[in-house]
Amino acid sequence: MSAALFSLRGRTALVTGARTGIGRAVALGLAAAGADLVLLGRTADLGEVPDQVRAHGVAAEVLGVDLADPAAAEEPLRAALAERPIDVLVNNAGIIHREAAADVSYADWRRVLGVNLDSVFLLSRLAGQRMLDRGSGKIINIASLLSFQGGLRVPAYAAAKHAVGGLTKALANEWAPHGVQVNAIAPGYIRTGNTDALRADGQREAEIRARIPAGRWGEPEDLAGAAVFLASAASDYVNGHVLVVDGGWMAR
Ligand code: NAP
Repeated sequence: MSAALFSLRGRTALVTGARTGIGRAVALGLAAAGADLVLLGRTADLGEVPDQVRAHGVAAEVLGVDLADPAAAEEPLRAALAERPIDVLVNNAGIIHREAAADVSYADWRRVLGVNLDSVFLLSRLAGQRMLDRGSGKIINIASLLSFQGGLRVPAYAAAKHAVGGLTKALANEWAPHGVQVNAIAPGYIRTGNTDALRADGQREAEIRARIPAGRWGEPEDLAGAAVFLASAASDYVNGHVLVVDGGWMAR
């Protein structure tokens, strides 16, 4: 099998939430495979990530857009995408709100749905329109094990991530005939800011680790290979798939 199958040389990838965690690791993985990067952050301050991307010999551009209010973000995103043909879109930005369902305010519910679901639809539509015109493109949504399970004390997150799985399949059905592949990655328990609270609870951390057949939490870099696969020609006949990368959690 040729390495060219996985090469992203000459492609431009936009990754949301690229400052930290999985978004940063995926952006660096795509850069290592040759992609130029548009790094979207809540603000334009992405720290050292742009330089870390450029160290792979590719271009890095920064876009500061707060996705918490997707309606307000629409015009800036439309303008930004009009100037840049995006070959690969990674909808990674996400937040989590941990609270008993009976106590979750409507504002917190909407906040999680706004970042984790509405922005995925908005960006997929904006980038997808151009991909459909060109007859090619890759969209990768970052789903979750909570695209399949309900979790504990994270009802808005679980609802949003189930919806991300559904949206992935809905878009794939419409866009596959036009050369645009829409897929998702469902990370398991990964060592990032998103899971700090779980790891701070010694008992919960041990329970989680004990259920993972690989015997360890995932690192953000564990997601890079799946992202390169779904961004590259190697996945041209993969449509509407949610690829679990979880050290075996779901198999157990
Ligand atoms: P993380 O380090 O907290 O990363 C989340 C990223 O999203 C940050 O870069 C953050 O930017 C960005 N973001 C948050 N709110 C935003 C907004 N309003 N506008 C633009 N960007 C915003 O956690 P992570 O684990 O890497 O999360 C990345 C994705 O993986 C999320 O969709 C998460 O649900 C998913 N996921 C994580 C795990 C896990 O175990 N860690 C498991 C399954 C799925 P700022 O830092 O600037 O706010």
